[in-house]
Amino acid sequence: MTIKIPPDQIVIRPPVEAYSVLIPVTGGCSWNKCRFCGTYKGVYGVTQDYAIRSLEDVKKDIDKFAKNNYHGFPVFLAGGNPSSAPTDFLIEIIKYVRVKLRNVPRVSCYAKSLDILRKTDEELKSLANAGLDIVYMGLESGSDTILRIMKKGTNAESMIKAGKKILNAGIKISLYIILGLGSHKYSEEHVKETARVLTEINPTIFRFRTLNILKGTPLWDEWKSGQFKLLSPVENLKEEREIIANLGENVTSQVFNDHISNYCSIESANIKEDKEMFLKTLDTYINDPKIQNLPRSNLARM
Ligand code: SF4
Repeated sequence: MTIKIPPDQIVIRPPVEAYSVLIPVTGGCSWNKCRFCGTYKGVYGVTQDYAIRSLEDVKKDIDKFAKNNYHGFPVFLAGGNPSSAPTDFLIEIIKYVRVKLRNVPRVSCYAKSLDILRKTDEELKSLANAGLDIVYMGLESGSDTILRIMKKGTNAESMIKAGKKILNAGIKISLYIILGLGSHKYSEEHVKETARVLTEINPTIFRFRTLNILKGTPLWDEWKSGQFKLLSPVENLKEEREIIANLGENVTSQVFNDHISNYCSIESANIKEDKEMFLKTLDTYINDPKIQNLPRSNLARM
């Protein structure tokens, strides 16, 4: 049974924000059509409609955290895409956080490329000046074919433009890549185009996730009927290897495999400096007979 929850309840947050103060700003997702995603469609036992919370309610939450001495923690402005909210509204919230909570080391939120493109450079700079440090954005793939099939509602060009706009405004960006999103058919294109987009943007951080298909997502039936196939563990590792190998020399991003879905946990503080180490470590995994024979299981919960 799924229940509909109001926008002040949080469904997900990035693993890196596990110990942050979580302040709901929007509920649901204004797009909510990606075929691999069921976050707000009931896969976690709840559904949530898209909504922007009232400024008054968000401020009340911040007041509560201040009253209870939640000083010194990072702050995550929660909800599927707070970047869809008006810039003035977001600026007021971020400023309020910075006034009410002391020693906040980081303010962050999820963002969508089309929301970012709707904002002017000046608006993004104002968000940076107010104290927005980093946004988390799902690139998923650099391949237009895969983005179209998966109904991401955007393309590589928009991702590149949005990524550059964010960085130029002085806001850091962390991008998510989903290994296996193109299945076997588009694996090569996934690798090549994702490496190209990452090279164009040179994001502050990029993070790998591995495709798992949760019940309730549009992709579930296709997988169950055998039309869509998951990559094996070693095939996912090979995709990651080739994405790293194909990055341009300019890419200095931090790289993480910081998710339960990943088959390795290798990370780098600067992929330009660590590329050789990263590739060698991945090769060790890829050439390990135990990993080559590891059966693929699909995670039921993440
Ligand atoms: S992946 Fe992101 S943009 Fe796509 S439906 Fe899920 S929350 Fe919305």
